Amino acid sequence: MRQLKRILIVGGGSAGWMTAALFSKLFRGRYDITLVESDAIGTIGVGEATIPAIRKFNELIGLDENDFIRRTQGSFKLGIQFVDWLRKGDRYMHAFGVIGRDLGWLRCHQYWLKMRESGGAGDLGAYSINAAAALENRFMRPDPKMRSSPLGQITYAFQFDAGLYARYLRQMSEAAGVVRREGKVCAVQLRAEDGFVESVTLEDGEVIAADLFVDCSGFRGLIIEEAMKTGYEAWTQWLPCDRAIAVPCARTEPFTPYTRATARDAGWQWRIPLQHRTGNGHVFSSRHMDEAEAERVLLANLDGAQLAEPKRIRFVTGKRRRIWNRNCVAVGLAAGFLEPLESTSLHLIQSSLIRLVRLMPDAGFDPANIDEFNRQTDFEYERVRDFIILHYKATERDDTPFWRHCRDMPVPDTLQRKIDLFRANGRVFREDDELFTEESWIQVFLGQGITPRHPDPLVDVTDEAAIDRYLGDIRSVVGKCVARMPPHPDYVARIVQAP
Ligand code: FAD
Repeated sequence: MRQLKRILIVGGGSAGWMTAALFSKLFRGRYDITLVESDAIGTIGVGEATIPAIRKFNELIGLDENDFIRRTQGSFKLGIQFVDWLRKGDRYMHAFGVIGRDLGWLRCHQYWLKMRESGGAGDLGAYSINAAAALENRFMRPDPKMRSSPLGQITYAFQFDAGLYARYLRQMSEAAGVVRREGKVCAVQLRAEDGFVESVTLEDGEVIAADLFVDCSGFRGLIIEEAMKTGYEAWTQWLPCDRAIAVPCARTEPFTPYTRATARDAGWQWRIPLQHRTGNGHVFSSRHMDEAEAERVLLANLDGAQLAEPKRIRFVTGKRRRIWNRNCVAVGLAAGFLEPLESTSLHLIQSSLIRLVRLMPDAGFDPANIDEFNRQTDFEYERVRDFIILHYKATERDDTPFWRHCRDMPVPDTLQRKIDLFRANGRVFREDDELFTEESWIQVFLGQGITPRHPDPLVDVTDEAAIDRYLGDIRSVVGKCVARMPPHPDYVARIVQAP
């Protein structure tokens, strides 16, 4: 056991610079922080859509939100639209934030389920300010003076250029004392007696020693895997996609406050609108479609004029067996990867970092801290994994071998239990600190066609006329609120043009 003094971050993608930005903000002067990155190797260069928790991270590191929007070519995000997932021609919105308001013991969707049977409920999205505003291409931040109105309950994230974000964080981190070393790590020295990492050696011969190593070196896991042989738990039996092709395109209209995920024959395609361009990419299963065909599908369906050559990426969905191993913590792609269907990767970086801060090995590497970190991190990854699997599993599509495979595959027990519970009475419970809220699960269950056999029996305590009034009121209030919101392009333009 020794006092933590030196931290070495290996890798300068989003993960590396998010780590540097947070640590330099929280621990300035307490630890010596160095970051090594190699321009010759470069970064993955994708990763544009996020979930609302990113705001918390930006706040923690002291970013001004308008400055962030300007410097990262950012836009606002109210949710994700899923097209052709349940069946071709179908679409639904997974919007952030609340759906309607509770009535008595029950969530709004229970009454909606009851009235849907009699055809009097309309679209679930009409009860969510986020979903309704997204479809009208409108956006504003929540108005703190209107907490009881939907206008006070808008929940948002961002779509932004992750490369520019990393550059922004680099500036902040260096200004706060982080030392950046350009260079390629060519060797990692482990202590013979206990396998702890002692130092890394750069190509120019420099040896950098540290007490804590944060491995942000991307998929390869330079320290956690190549040196420490920690092992990887693959989840390809549930998430068969293992390739992506990304193509940046010129900005197109509509400049939407949401990301779109369109199901394709062997995977899905993303559309992410930023100020200066529109991100397009195709995630697919190489067992069901070869790369040339996947690229043809993407190029035939691009939104916006192509700005660069397609970038091909290979991945294995899963995570390291121990994301914190001895004195090395893997963050970002070095820790694991879940495809970007629900925009969770940057979030998993920030939540791992916050967890690490809470369990900081300041006075040495106590196994209790390491085990707790790994327990919590595994739980979070597994629950996000389940949520993503749900989109594939719950489908009526049987038009290609890929979709038939997804529909027929067994799923983890933890997910099956949730599906069974929802199918019975539309119930869902958020467990511990799992990332996705009940509203998220509800929207994806219903959007993917899992219809409860009966709503919660408590809905029958309220008479139908009262339910009808309650639902009608919510729809009308949401509609009026959306009409008061500015168009998303105007809202962003005002921020960009502000002095
Ligand atoms: P990288 O960007 O790969 O960075 C690795 C760093 O390590 C680089 O700086 C590299 O130079 C350095 N390095 C490697 N080896 C050495 C060495 N030997 N010596 C020195 N330095 C070295 N996330 C989201 O939140 N939203 C999304 O919409 C999203 N979309 C994605 C789409 C795809 C197809 C993929 C693959 C990922 C997506 N992600 C998304 C994830 C996101 O891109 C990553 O989580 C994020 O960019 C973090 O990457 P990273 O920093 O871990 O790795």
